[in-house]
Amino acid sequence: MEKEEKVFQKYQKLVGQIDQATRQLEEVHHSHMVCRKGCSACCMDYKIFPIEFYSILKNIREKEIRIAKDVAEGDCVFLVDHACTIYEWRPIICRTHGLPLLYTNDEGEWELSACELNFTEFDEEFHTDNTFPQDKYNSRLFMLNKELVALPGYSEHGEFDLLGIRELIERMSSF
Ligand code: SF4
Repeated sequence: MEKEEKVFQKYQKLVGQIDQATRQLEEVHHSHMVCRKGCSACCMDYKIFPIEFYSILKNIREKEIRIAKDVAEGDCVFLVDHACTIYEWRPIICRTHGLPLLYTNDEGEWELSACELNFTEFDEEFHTDNTFPQDKYNSRLFMLNKELVALPGYSEHGEFDLLGIRELIERMSSF
């Protein structure tokens, strides 16, 4: 199997593990979360690593994907009528939204981030067992991305490069 294909398979495996982890957390917190289809409060034109960008591109390039018209700067082109038109292939950042995300900030301190619409009456403690360990999964994503951009077909990208979700539209016809 080609090295490239192996890296994309490892990425899909990571996505599967993240989906499993988020499902478990959603069960734990379901009474404190208002996330539902139709709420797009956290959607925007995120910047993503090439490994995610090209994985999504491979999946959507031959499909008829609906795209939003007259998209304002910073909005996601795949948000149509408050629903994601690439939901099955959406990036990892879109899979973890709404959950309590635990990560270390630039000062090396633990920080917690969650949608302000959720946990409005949460009076328990957040700890490592009821939060999403963002650093752990981001490190794995970074390492997989590093593997990909080291391959000949992807050498135009550096390991810290990020691409906007919107750029997928431009690449769909040419990839
Ligand atoms: S890819 Fe989908 S879930 Fe992610 S920001 Fe765009 S519309 Fe929202």
